[in-house]
Amino acid sequence: MEHFSKERTLVMVKPDGVQRSLIGEIIKRYERMGLKLVAMKMLLPTEDHIEKHYTLDPNWMRITGEKTIEGYKKKGQQPPSEDPLEITKVVLANLKKYMTSGPVVAMVWQGAHAVKISRKIVGGTEPLSSDVGTIRGDFVLDSYQMSDMDGRAVRNLIHASGSPEEAENEIKHWFADNEIIGYRLVQEQILYDVNIDGILE
Ligand code: GDP
Ligand code: MG
Repeated sequence: MEHFSKERTLVMVKPDGVQRSLIGEIIKRYERMGLKLVAMKMLLPTEDHIEKHYTLDPNWMRITGEKTIEGYKKKGQQPPSEDPLEITKVVLANLKKYMTSGPVVAMVWQGAHAVKISRKIVGGTEPLSSDVGTIRGDFVLDSYQMSDMDGRAVRNLIHASGSPEEAENEIKHWFADNEIIGYRLVQEQILYDVNIDGILE
């Protein structure tokens, strides 16, 4: 098994994050955790690229639809459809509009448990309930209810891969191999080396 310190995740500052001038704040939060930035670029994604991004997992359409329907029912509301795929079609159309509305900053971060640690920093999907202290909890105030009412995607500032498998597929989708740089960061000695030595004079 590959060492935990080699795990990588795809992170993206979404168009609203760029417009809110949060690129630096977001990078700061990843850097201070001890994760290592191994790729980064700003780009304007196409609708096709966004659709592929969200459908890399063939189950995403169904799972997201089911989750959304469940969300409506929990709140005692009637979902717009009982068919998960119908629901996700609308979510996906809104996402394509949202994610192509301006530049995004895509990044690959590497380090121990990069995927889980990253999701922890990012917080839950819906800003209304994301924990305080997370990026979504601290910097934005959107909700599914408001975004559904206004017929748009929920604005939650940032994307982060949900599992190591998703990360692997997403990294390939956003970056060519030669855009990812393998290098050593001096602090990794303190984070990962079995013996911390060479410090005292
Ligand atoms: P993430 O990984 O935390 O961004 O969340 P998911 O991968 O589950 O969903 C991707 C995107 O689909 C989210 O950022 C939302 O824009 C949208 N989405 C997911 N679940 C729901 C939902 O229950 N309602 C609505 N309106 N949109 C949703
Ligand atoms: Mg996701």
